[in-house]
Amino acid sequence: MKKLVAVIFAILLLSSVMSIASAKRFEVKYDPLPNRFEGTPTFCTKEPAQDPNVPESIIPILLKKTKANLDAWIGPLKSSSQRDAKWDINYVEIPRSKQASFDYAKCNVIISFLKTPPQGLEGVEILGRHYFKDNTNHVEIYYQGYGICETKDSQWTYWYTCQQDSPKLIVAMEAILRHELGHAMGLGHYISEELLYTGGLGHPSSIMVPILDVLASPSHTPLDPELMEIMPVDIAKLKEIYGNDGWGKKTEIKKEKANSKVIQIKNGKAIIEKITVQIPPELYKKGQKANVILLHDGKTDTQKVLVNSKGKLDYTFKITDKTVPGKYEITINYLGKTIKKFSYEIR
Ligand SMILES: [Zn+2]
Repeated sequence: MKKLVAVIFAILLLSSVMSIASAKRFEVKYDPLPNRFEGTPTFCTKEPAQDPNVPESIIPILLKKTKANLDAWIGPLKSSSQRDAKWDINYVEIPRSKQASFDYAKCNVIISFLKTPPQGLEGVEILGRHYFKDNTNHVEIYYQGYGICETKDSQWTYWYTCQQDSPKLIVAMEAILRHELGHAMGLGHYISEELLYTGGLGHPSSIMVPILDVLASPSHTPLDPELMEIMPVDIAKLKEIYGNDGWGKKTEIKKEKANSKVIQIKNGKAIIEKITVQIPPELYKKGQKANVILLHDGKTDTQKVLVNSKGKLDYTFKITDKTVPGKYEITINYLGKTIKKFSYEIR
C-alpha cells in the first residue's frame, strides 16, 4: 500500500514538474457566447423547492452564498474600472410562495437549484448548466450529490462513484455557480492544454475551464472546488466583451410623441393608412411576430403581425364610412417593448 502511494505521489510530482517545464505558452481558446447584458441586469434566484433529503437549514446559507458568488464577479469588475463604470446589477430572491405568480420577464438571469439534470441531458455538464432562451439566461445547479460506494467480491474491494440522496457540498455548488454565472455574462469556455487544472495540482487558470474536467462526477476525481476561482483573465475577458465602462447601454427605443393625424371620413370611400415600422436590429428575432395594438374608446384590439427578415413590418389601418369617429392609437409592440406609436383623430 505504501509503495502504491509513493508511486502515485511520484507520478503527480513528475507531471507537475513537466507542466512547469512546459509552462511556456499554451494555446488558449477563450471565446465569448452570443448573450449580452444591457443596462442594469437583473439576477433572480429561486428558493429551492423543499426536499426531504436537503435540510431546510442549509437553504438560507445556499441563498446567501448565491449572492456572494455573484458579488465575486461584480467586485473585481468594479474595482478594476473607473468609478463611474456601470457594473451594477439588480438582485431578486424569489421565495417558494411567490414563484408561481412571479413576473420572470424582468429577470435577465434566472438561477434555480434542481435535484437532477433534466432527462436526456445526462453526461452534458451535468453539475450545472446555462442556456439562453427567449432573451433570458437560465442557470441551473443540480444539487444531488455523488459519493463513493463500495462493493466486495471474494477477492477484491471495489470503489466507485454513485449518486447519493444527500446534496452536494455547498462549496461544490458554489464553484459550479461561479462558472455558470460566467456563461450568463457572456463568457464561453477557457480551453487550453494546461495540465495544471486537469491534474488537480493547483489553480485552474480560469473559472471557465470546462467544468467536467475539474469537479467530482461519476467519471472524474474531484478537484478542491475552492480552487475554482474567478481569475484576472476572466475579468479581463468580460471587459474585452463589454468595454471598460460597464454592461453597456440599454437599447433606447425612442419615445416619440405620437402626433395625431386627422382623417376625415368620406362617404362611400375607404382610406388606407399604411404603417411601416422598422424593428431595431439588436432586438430582431427571426420568426418573432409583433403585436399591433389598436386602442379606441378605452378598448384594445391586438393583432399579431409578421416581421420580415429585414426586421420590417407592414400594417394597414383601414378607415371606412363605418368607422366610429374618435381618437385611435396604434402601438407597435415587439418582445414586450414599445417600438412606435401612431395616433389618429377620425372625424
Ligand atoms: Zn461551462
